[in-house]
Amino acid sequence: MKIAILSRRSQLYSTRRLVEAAKARGHTVQVIDTLRCYMNIASHNPGIHYRGQSLEGFNAVIPRIGASITFYGAAVLRQFEMMNVPTINSSLSITRSRDKLRSFQLFSKRGIGLPVTGFADSPDDIDDLIKIVGEPPLVIKLVEGTQGIGVVLAETKQAAQSVIEAFLELDAHIMVQEYIKEAQGKDIRCFVVGKKVVAAMARQAKGGEFRSNLQRGGKAKLIKITPEERKMALRAVKIMGLDVAGVDLLRSNRGPLVMEVNSSPGLEGIEKATGKNVAGMIIQYCEKQAKKRKNHQALG
Ligand code: ADP
Repeated sequence: MKIAILSRRSQLYSTRRLVEAAKARGHTVQVIDTLRCYMNIASHNPGIHYRGQSLEGFNAVIPRIGASITFYGAAVLRQFEMMNVPTINSSLSITRSRDKLRSFQLFSKRGIGLPVTGFADSPDDIDDLIKIVGEPPLVIKLVEGTQGIGVVLAETKQAAQSVIEAFLELDAHIMVQEYIKEAQGKDIRCFVVGKKVVAAMARQAKGGEFRSNLQRGGKAKLIKITPEERKMALRAVKIMGLDVAGVDLLRSNRGPLVMEVNSSPGLEGIEKATGKNVAGMIIQYCEKQAKKRKNHQALG
């Protein structure tokens, strides 16, 4: 097979591992810098150009599209889809999951457990926004934040008000969320490939910190998830329509709660914590999808 990995940096652990795993399974693989792709949208024969050449003959595309380039990345991916190349994940599922408000709306409609969450742009009544979520402590987040940056725990109503006011000055969308104290600074990352949770790890925040992000000093370890957690992770991924995803869960007194579904989950933390060849499983999944597409085309 010929596999394309859309990634801005070939040196990243996840990109390197996918390249390695593809080669180990006998495939040809090319890392393509998403932002360097250009395409003619109007032509009847959709194609993509890269460094002066037409990208052709790929059997599968694995997008590793960072949050900051979602818009253009999805367009490049869509072009591959128009060329009938299986994309693991699809452009639609990526844009859907990147929109936290839309994801939460879809999850709540389907009965997925979520922390009580308020969304706002420029509310003229911050008190009321706090009231609809509940009593402090509250977690206030920048909707566009990643790696735990812009996630603040406000212990009192006054602190919550000040943080919300400060965030609103930045012209950012914010989330005000119930604080899941009983999670005790721990969250669970379920790594999903196809319809399976192929690996799971717990991330524990370092002392004095409630954010468990590895970038914030959190430590990862192998964990056995419950059947309920497994089911919820798979349902959330299905609702998003993703093939490969990282689902972050919090263990609350009322069962597992979904915090986020990530469409470009990092491989380093999960492979090191679990010792599993997750990259290899993604490549195997690509093989299956490519085969399915081929059979489908043969049937006409
Ligand atoms: P990011 O997407 O930037 O990683 P998250 O929303 O995942 O932001 O929050 C970062 C971390 O903070 C989470 O992994 C979790 O450990 C902690 N956290 C976030 N929201 C809550 C909450 N409502 N209750 C308890 N802990 C939370």
